[in-house]
Amino acid sequence: MGDILPAEIGYWQRLESTTREVLAGYGYEELRVPVVEHTELFKRSIGEFTDIVEKEMYTFVDKGDDSLTLRPEATAGIVRAAISNGLTHNQRLRVWCMGPMFRREKPQKGRYRQFHQIDVEALGFPGPDVDAELIFVGARLWKRLGIGRVRLELNSLGTPAARIAYRDQLVKYLRAHYDALDEDSRRRLDGNPLRILDSKNPEMRATLDAAPLIADHLDPESARHFETLCAHLKSAGIEYRVNPRLVRGIDYYTRTVFEWVSEATGAQNAVCSGGRYDGLIAQLGGEPMPAIGWAMGQERVVALMQQAEPNAPGLAPHAYLVLVGERAESTGLALAERLRDALPQLRLLVNLAGGNLKTQFRRADKSGAGIALVLGDSEIERGVVAVKMLRTEAPQRDIPLAELPAYVGELLPNLQ
Ligand code: ATP
Ligand code: MG
Repeated sequence: MGDILPAEIGYWQRLESTTREVLAGYGYEELRVPVVEHTELFKRSIGEFTDIVEKEMYTFVDKGDDSLTLRPEATAGIVRAAISNGLTHNQRLRVWCMGPMFRREKPQKGRYRQFHQIDVEALGFPGPDVDAELIFVGARLWKRLGIGRVRLELNSLGTPAARIAYRDQLVKYLRAHYDALDEDSRRRLDGNPLRILDSKNPEMRATLDAAPLIADHLDPESARHFETLCAHLKSAGIEYRVNPRLVRGIDYYTRTVFEWVSEATGAQNAVCSGGRYDGLIAQLGGEPMPAIGWAMGQERVVALMQQAEPNAPGLAPHAYLVLVGERAESTGLALAERLRDALPQLRLLVNLAGGNLKTQFRRADKSGAGIALVLGDSEIERGVVAVKMLRTEAPQRDIPLAELPAYVGELLPNLQ
């Protein structure tokens, strides 16, 4: 579980504010759900035979003997919230949520125990139009963030009924290759054989590559849904690759599943993944309602942003207030407050803890400020503040105190 330090926070803030803007542009609204839920919610939605539920959840019994779990993902909580607040009744929802998720995985680059996701969900839309819209949202985010090297992979898992037919074929094949399966996969053979296809064990690669494909068992309706989605993507110029091996690691998916992968993030290459979960809302006690969503791993996206732009985006102060001598120190804080009253958008760093003129100018320079406002004994006597440009060649100017807010206000547009 890591800390996010001020030196890198600029990437996070940019990712988050860009996401808010892009999602608002598509009419998605923010929905915040708790970080803990009843354990049962995750077991029922994510599925017993998944990595998350089998070994990754942070689960504890609270003082009231309730079993609670730190959320490993957001979809279950959003669906629970939609049902318990009556939002699924004759309504459609386009919502998003952002925040920490918790999984007790082996920590490594791109994989943490507390990580952060941006999660986008659309409830109540049955057709491939919304699948396309959600993918457009993702593609627009990459564009706005300047991330170029991500590839979209797509597949369809069909309806639950089509999956059962496929599942029989797959189990037959896997039983015939039982010796090639690892321990986890053997255990999943009865519980959730599709999950075996999602295995990351390289020793099973060849066996899994030769397994029957779900694409050959799709029901006609799902096949049509998938074709229409692909047509929407083509006409909007979104590149994709159909990956018949993509099954995703969570039980609730039906029909469309997708993943954006990047070669640039190392072994942990999925930066954003999602899919349709048409049965989940009814399964959790709501009115039957189709839905689809995706989740983006913020740490992995921040890593891509860092590669694309090595200088962290940040907001340097516009101005640094240099205060030399006791009289300046005693009036400087109040002067700064008057400036902030007059110029609410001003980013002003006040020199604290003293220091001589040279030290204070060094701090001003290091802060990235565009101008220094200098107050010393001689300025106080004359009723002025000296304004010095720190990034351009220009003579220092004395500005009468009463005119200072207007003067700094005029400089502001050039100090961004
Ligand atoms: P992976 O295949 O990398 O294990 P996943 O299928 O478990 O990913 P999802 O549950 O679909 O991932 O979560 C959506 C996104 O969240 C992933 O695409 C990834 O970017 C990110 N993510 C998942 N687990 C972690 C983690 N432990 N640390 C950081 N990011 C993660
Ligand atoms: Mg995982």
